[in-house]
Amino acid sequence: MTGLGRWLQQMGMRMTIGLRRFMEGRYGNDKLNNAILGAAMVLVILALFIRNPLVNLIAHGIAYILMFWAIFRSLSRNTYKRYQENRKYLQFFGRMKDRDHRYFDCPKCRQMVRVPRGKGKIAITCPRCTEKFVRKS
Ligand SMILES: [Zn+2]
Repeated sequence: MTGLGRWLQQMGMRMTIGLRRFMEGRYGNDKLNNAILGAAMVLVILALFIRNPLVNLIAHGIAYILMFWAIFRSLSRNTYKRYQENRKYLQFFGRMKDRDHRYFDCPKCRQMVRVPRGKGKIAITCPRCTEKFVRKS
């Protein structure tokens, strides 16, 4: 191997190790980040078709803010908070997709309770704290 080849290989290794060390203790990527970046991408693509310069600028502005937000989240050291954000996001879209159930938060302990949809008014017992509450399913 030539000296340059070896040097490049060493550089590559050094960068990999450096990147790994840099990301240590940081949050990294998750589903919410993918969604944020996806939304930013859609905005940039949409902006290609927007002729109005002000609206175009706003679309790009929002896209950049979303990208910075995603980068901020992946580099964040507050992994617990980021994890909770991702969990809420997944829960929210889980609810939207689920047409057979309704979701309620227990008024006492905030535990999420799932009940079948379309059964009229029903009494729900929280599985965590056994609080009873009535909701329309
Ligand atoms: Zn409860």
